[in-house]
Amino acid sequence: MTIMSTTESKETQTLRVDLHSHTKCSDGGLTPEELVERAVNFQIDVLAITDHDTVSALDIANNYIKDKNYGLKLINGIEISTVWEGFEIHIVGLNIDHANPQLRELISNQQEARESRAIAIGHKLQKCGFEGMYDKAKALSTGGSFTRAHFAKALFQQGSISKMQTAFDKYIGKGKRAYVKPNWCSIQEAIDVIHSAGGTAVMAHPVRYDLSTKWLRRLVTQFKAEGGDGLEIVLPQMSNDQRQLMLNFCLEYELHASMGSDFHYPSKWSDLGRNLRMPDKATPIWNLWPNSLN
Ligand code: AMP
Ligand code: MN
Ligand code: MN
Ligand code: MN
Repeated sequence: MTIMSTTESKETQTLRVDLHSHTKCSDGGLTPEELVERAVNFQIDVLAITDHDTVSALDIANNYIKDKNYGLKLINGIEISTVWEGFEIHIVGLNIDHANPQLRELISNQQEARESRAIAIGHKLQKCGFEGMYDKAKALSTGGSFTRAHFAKALFQQGSISKMQTAFDKYIGKGKRAYVKPNWCSIQEAIDVIHSAGGTAVMAHPVRYDLSTKWLRRLVTQFKAEGGDGLEIVLPQMSNDQRQLMLNFCLEYELHASMGSDFHYPSKWSDLGRNLRMPDKATPIWNLWPNSLN
């Protein structure tokens, strides 16, 4: 692999890059080692692990790659939950120093917010007629970041719902009966901490927030003003209109472009590195780290 500059963008197109993925350390289905194995099998060149509000997969994955002598380049990452205008916006930190004290402090605050939200969700689900969901969901989180996906899985496993999505649609999604407003940090805090940790701040999946174009523009304007570096504009399953809109935002706001599958577990719809192609006109986020892609 060679250093990639803008003039070599044709060459970067041949790199298989996936900058958004999860492990069992949050709500993914694979251990860090299993995720690395899958990336190697899928011939991924550059992979970022970006678990929700935790970096605990990173040392495990890095050590495993070293032990196995794999050529896979791992980018140390995190996906930080934030609240903006009542919406939960995810900010991905890439190429971070995951030992950074400010980052560790933010993670500890976010974990506390996750724990108190989970207790409150448990109470609300009890009022909906589901007993003991906190304990059942907590057991599924196996000591990692405690997410709503664990509640969805617990409800599914006991046969209360026929698919996990129903948990969000009926109970724990925004505005539903067991939804609890989270105490996440602000976008500004997430960006600042990522920068303190030497990383690059990327807005995760802007097309998935169910925002009108007008609100999306407000969000991108603020993200840029607060020092954000890039938008995740390439993800599986986007319409052509969405692709064009995202590219236009990158060009207009001079933001770098990121791409990732948001892989959680093997499924029919998406997988590591699948259906990801950086548009020619975009400036890839990895141009910011020429020395890391050697
Ligand atoms: P949390 O960060 O604890 O709010 O958990 C949200 C996670 O649940 C997301 O990262 C997704 O992996 C998963 N999820 C699945 N379906 C949905 C949905 N409809 N809305 C929000 N999250 C979902
Ligand atoms: Mn998730
Ligand atoms: Mn996300
Ligand atoms: Mn994600």
